[in-house]
Amino acid sequence: MASEPLREADLFHCKRCGDCCKGYGGTFVTPEDIRRIAAFLQEDPDRFVPKYCQMSGKKPVLAQAENGYCVFWEGLCRIHPVKPRMCRQWPFIPGLLKDLHNWHIMAKACPGIRTDISDAQLERAVKAIIFPHDRHL
Ligand code: SF4
Ligand code: SF4
Repeated sequence: MASEPLREADLFHCKRCGDCCKGYGGTFVTPEDIRRIAAFLQEDPDRFVPKYCQMSGKKPVLAQAENGYCVFWEGLCRIHPVKPRMCRQWPFIPGLLKDLHNWHIMAKACPGIRTDISDAQLERAVKAIIFPHDRHL
């Protein structure tokens, strides 16, 4: 019988360094993200984009504070329970399944990502995490 794929906690453990919350990283927010975050902050969702975002083309991304961090970074994420989908997914993003090399690129910027595992283990684990209901993994 095939062994179980590695679990999320075997591959990644956030060190809370905040490095991924710094710089113009293009954290896109969806309409659903905006609705959830505005409700959490008890603010008007119609004011969310002008107050907390910059535009990247036609899409809103979270703005940076003067210190270069995301506007919601306060030593920890101020909106952690409702943070945007992009932040919740990290580092198990669908783009990994197009090119596993992205894992190693991301690991250079994120000390929580483990790299001492084979590509085969990584691919199997990432598929199981992103598609948890696919029993053929
Ligand atoms: S860079 Fe990685 S370890 Fe640091 S806060 Fe972000 S996810 Fe966590
Ligand atoms: S929303 Fe939170 S987790 Fe996402 S970039 Fe901003 S501070 Fe970091």
